[in-house]
This record gives sequence, structure tokens and C-alpha cells, in this order.
Amino acid sequence: MKEKRNRNNSVPKDHPRYKSLKYRHKIIEGMKNLVVAEAGLIAHGRGECFDYIFGEKTNETAKKAIKAAVAQLMISNKPIISVNGNVAALVPKELVKLSKTLNIPLEINLFYRKEGRIEAIKNLLEKSGAKEILGLDQNKMVEIEELSSNRRLVDPKGIKIADTVFVPLEDGDRTEALKKIGKKVIAVDLNPISRTAIWADITIIDNIIRALPEMIKIAKDLKNLKKEQLITILNNFNNKKNIIDTLDLIKEYIEAQKENAFKILKS
Ligand code: ATP
Ligand code: MG
Repeated sequence: MKEKRNRNNSVPKDHPRYKSLKYRHKIIEGMKNLVVAEAGLIAHGRGECFDYIFGEKTNETAKKAIKAAVAQLMISNKPIISVNGNVAALVPKELVKLSKTLNIPLEINLFYRKEGRIEAIKNLLEKSGAKEILGLDQNKMVEIEELSSNRRLVDPKGIKIADTVFVPLEDGDRTEALKKIGKKVIAVDLNPISRTAIWADITIIDNIIRALPEMIKIAKDLKNLKKEQLITILNNFNNKKNIIDTLDLIKEYIEAQKENAFKILKS
């Protein structure tokens, strides 16, 4: 069997699953550097599974949600981007770029608060160009009472006073809590029927590694629109319908695989 690893143990570019392996390695590296929690590896695997069953691409439904999400972030008075370990490990530069393009602060908010993790994520974001990061000083954090996990601790200048919270890769409990205290929630989640996906106001069913670059592109496209035009985009978006359409796409994709998956044997 052909050796697929080169000498420095990185994945060769001609590997048929190069991209997927590259991001797996980023998650593993993140875990070694404290950025990612051990449970983050399992969450990543769950995401990969869903990605596989809609063809590992940004579908039309995801594009619609991305446009609505960017419009929502642009019309909000105090939007915030919540950052966890997996997202920081996978797309640190893109997080910073989106934050700068839309002028929205980043807040580190973690489920698993191991000693040194916040520092590790802060360093990674700063290396990627971040200037101002919220959620750093644990003594200054305030609580969201509706939540019992560590993620109840939020920055009084960030999530606490935000009207819209962008939560790429979120846990269902917190999405529900954020909704209950009146926040608009935008989520990126590969699982269209997770509690996060169902509770969020705008659910981008896509891999974060593709969704963030697309959001940056759309943010530039929408930059010159008037507020009323952004509101029209939002009014034309129906999150429940979009999730249902995505589930239909998954059904269609799996149906097509009954034939397509076996073509690989002929090539
Ligand atoms: P919920 O708590 O919302 O019911 P869950 O408990 O199944 O969902 P969590 O472990 O809380 O899931 O959060 C991980 C979520 O992140 C999963 O739904 C998974 O599909 C998703 N996910 C993992 N990696 C990615 C990724 N790269 N891009 C987008 N979503 C991802
Ligand atoms: Mg969960």
C-alpha cells in the first residue's frame, strides 16, 4: 500500500481526503496546545459525520442563512462573536477577519475551563491579528443565571449586553439560555437537528471552515446596502423552512449515493 505520510508526518496534498485530514490535525494540534478540550475532538467527529451526508460543500440553504446572518449582524446595535476552542483552532485568521470586516468584538467563552486554555486561545487569536479580545479576566465576568455550565460566565462588555450573539459551534443548553434572556442567536452547526440548530434564530448548516470565509465575502458584498435593504433580506429568510429544506437536501444526497458512491470502484 502506498505510504500516504511524508517525512514530517503531515498529510500529502494528493490524499483523497486531504482537507478533512488537515483540519483533523489542526484539532489534534489544538488539543496538544491546550486550545481544544478533549471533548472537542469528539464534537469535531460528530460534525464530520454530518458534513459527509450532504457532500462536504456549502449548500444553497447554507448560503441563504449566511446572507441573513450577515444582514442580522450588520443591523444589530451590539453584536458579538463568541469563540470556543474548536473554532479558534480551525479558523483563527478568519475569525479575526470577520470581526474586523464587520467591526464586531470577539469574546472567548468556554465550556471546559482548564487552567491555561483562555491564555492559549488568546495567544492564538492575537497571533492571527486580533487586537481586542473580551472574556479574558475571569474575575470580571458576570453570570447568565439561566445556565449552570461554565459558559454562564460572560463578559459584562460583551455577551452580557449584546443584542445578537454569533455562536459558531455551540451547545444546545446555552443557545436556549441565550434565547431565553432575549438575545438573537446565530449559529453554525453541521447537525441540522441539534438543539442549537433548532433554537437559533439563524442556523447556518455548514462546516465552520467553509462558512466563515463565505461570511467574510458576503459581508463585503452587503457593506453598501441600506438598513432597510438588510431588513428585507432578513424578512425574506425563514429559519424553520431553511432547516427543513436542508433535511430534504440530505435525503436527496443520500438517495443519489445509492448509485454515485459505487462509481469510485470503476475509477
Ligand atoms: P446540542 O447541544 O446543540 O443538542 P450536541 O450536544 O449534539 O448538540 P455539542 O457537542 O454540544 O453537540 O456541540 C457540537 C456541535 O458542533 C455538533 O452539533 C456538531 O455537529 C457541530 N460541529 C462540530 N464540528 C463542526 C464544524 N467544523 N463546523 C460546524 N459544526 C460543527
Ligand atoms: Mg450539546
